[in-house]
Amino acid sequence: MDDLYREVIIEHYKHPGYRGHLEPHDIQFADNNPLCGDHIEITMQVGADGTVKDARFDGHGCAISQASADLLIESIIGKPLEEVKQLNKQHILDLLGIDLGPVRLKCALLSLKVLKAGVYGLGEASDELVE
Ligand code: ZN
Repeated sequence: MDDLYREVIIEHYKHPGYRGHLEPHDIQFADNNPLCGDHIEITMQVGADGTVKDARFDGHGCAISQASADLLIESIIGKPLEEVKQLNKQHILDLLGIDLGPVRLKCALLSLKVLKAGVYGLGEASDELVE
């Protein structure tokens, strides 16, 4: 793992800017990654213009899962929901800036899976959401 990017991940893990729970919220979803024990909940407020007014994540798990959630939330505030719906695996990889093996990839993509299931109003999150 590249040292610079590893520092970014550890920094977001230790000092997340967007950890919390919004009340009231328009969108709420939570899921976990049983392979690693990661858990992520996302709450979001949507503006009248259809953009993400504010969002937070809460949860626990490995540094990759928590740092990617923090980076993801940071990247979507102010964005139209329609744009959020188009986000895929590459968005998370760009945010993290590192290549990940299949196990770590599940950790990294959990927050996006939760986010998209919430935005689409689905009953459960599936891996196809983040392909
Ligand atoms: Zn993990």
